[in-house]
Amino acid sequence: ERSDEPENAVLREVWRDVLRRDPHQEFFHADVRAALRSIGPVLVEHPEYTDVVGRLCEPERVIVFRVPWVDDAGTVRVNRGFRVQFNSALGPYKGGLRFAPTVDLDVIKFLGFEQVFKNALTGQDIGGGKGGADVDPKTLSTGELMRFCQSFATELASHVGAAVDVPAGDMGVGSREIGWIYGQYQRLIGYHEPGAFTGKPAVLGGSALRPEATGFGTVYFTQRMLAEQGRDLDGARVVVSGSGNVALFAMDKVIASGGTVVGCSDSKGSVSEPDGIDVDLLREIKGQRGSVADYAEKRSTATTSDGSAFTLDCDVALPCATQNEIGPEEARALVENGCWAVAEGANGPVTPEAREVLREAGVVFGPGKAANSGGVAVSALEMQQNAGRERWSGEDVDERLQTIMSDAFDRVRDAADRYHGDPADLENGANAAGFLRVAEAMTSLGVV
Ligand code: GLU
Repeated sequence: ERSDEPENAVLREVWRDVLRRDPHQEFFHADVRAALRSIGPVLVEHPEYTDVVGRLCEPERVIVFRVPWVDDAGTVRVNRGFRVQFNSALGPYKGGLRFAPTVDLDVIKFLGFEQVFKNALTGQDIGGGKGGADVDPKTLSTGELMRFCQSFATELASHVGAAVDVPAGDMGVGSREIGWIYGQYQRLIGYHEPGAFTGKPAVLGGSALRPEATGFGTVYFTQRMLAEQGRDLDGARVVVSGSGNVALFAMDKVIASGGTVVGCSDSKGSVSEPDGIDVDLLREIKGQRGSVADYAEKRSTATTSDGSAFTLDCDVALPCATQNEIGPEEARALVENGCWAVAEGANGPVTPEAREVLREAGVVFGPGKAANSGGVAVSALEMQQNAGRERWSGEDVDERLQTIMSDAFDRVRDAADRYHGDPADLENGANAAGFLRVAEAMTSLGVV
């Protein structure tokens, strides 16, 4: 659509190239479009970065591969695996592996593009990448899933390494799966290289606090966002969607900060409990593959719905499930119900149209590439520990994580103020600040 085109002539050409090369990648397009909008004003001050933009929007390398495996019935099955090595200007490609039926090249490119900015915002020396496979791990037995991971790793092995590309987990891939993938990788290369994967089980060199890092980091970022508005989490009513690692640890931290988790959800439905969700019980039930509905059955104060958790009354919303959970309808419900802050624990949970609704209503918004960067930040700390053959305590990692999230917030707020004239415009600020760091690195490397 013409009206969607950037005003800046160079950015317009980049945008047209992106559409022409990948006509059907809607997630990727929406993300690039938002980034280009944020970058425009940066180029006025930094015309020397203009020619970086076209290169930034084209991944350095895209790897698509077959994942053959044998199921428990002896039938040969095949899935599609991906690794998009998006940008290595700041360091080895870094980013998670997602196993979900919705995974395709569009989704992985979108997540990889996000990761480039996110990783730059952490201030650490990591480039951006993303991978995964179009498999639903919930439908596989434990043995099937291990064989799947081994087959996936067999192909992945030729493309990764501690100084090349360092995958971690994401949706559907936790420390157990990373352990299996790393185990196969190690057999293939024939030596120990723990720094080639992060989010490993602790016994294999996984960092303390890595499981908690994304959820904790999202809350640390949110606290800075609220403080800027003269508010805090103490006494706040918070809705947290999702019931994976990110959501559960975000809930823990909200409660530790004096907030109340008044609603939660999983892929099947949502629960409202105005007096506060019992996170330990929820965690126990999810650990046994139960649902939030099973949780509600055990609690007389909880009510279930098969709709979104974002229709509940709340002050703060932390979408921690998956992309596109908050569309314009949910955003309008949040605004009507008095919500004044939203921060993305998941990648891309708030659609561009929904972000517009929040913006118009003056709801402060923390974009995922900044707000959920705590996970990858602690992954980079894991790489550092592995490289130095060290193990840091949970307290040590937590302290570093808090500093990283706080510094990321400063970077984002300052860029929002400088290039977009509004220190609360964190979405434009995150894109601008991430771009500046990557652009400087790319320019310093010559034409790469
Ligand atoms: N999957 C997480 C993310 O989206 C973490 C990636 C990592 O630790 O490399 O940022």
